[in-house]
Amino acid sequence: MNLFREILVQQGPIKLKEENFPKDGHGQKFSVMYYKGHFPNGETYERKWLIYSKHSSSIFCFPCKIFSIGKKSTKLTENGYSDWNHITSDLKDHEKSVNHKEYFIKWMDFAARMKKNETVNECNL
Ligand SMILES: [Zn+2]
Repeated sequence: MNLFREILVQQGPIKLKEENFPKDGHGQKFSVMYYKGHFPNGETYERKWLIYSKHSSSIFCFPCKIFSIGKKSTKLTENGYSDWNHITSDLKDHEKSVNHKEYFIKWMDFAARMKKNETVNECNL
């Protein structure tokens, strides 16, 4: 198993909850409201995969970034996404993409397997 991946999955995506994300040149900025998505019936769900990088003032997809290594990259995996004007529709498109679904499932599987092994790892410490 890839150690780097293991550490990242163990930590999980870190959510920045601050109120004041930096504005870009157009006065647009990220908002914590994007951490939540909306189903057509109005119910909300948490976008577990979405992470904001303070370093690059952009967002990434956690599972796509760590499981798509060596594969075709997108803004959400490579340099970060920061097109705040189109973020709502782009996030929806990303969630619908086949690759994202595949990596998201991989992430959940990977995390579940690691949880099972947790007791074993603790004994080795
Ligand atoms: Zn993704």
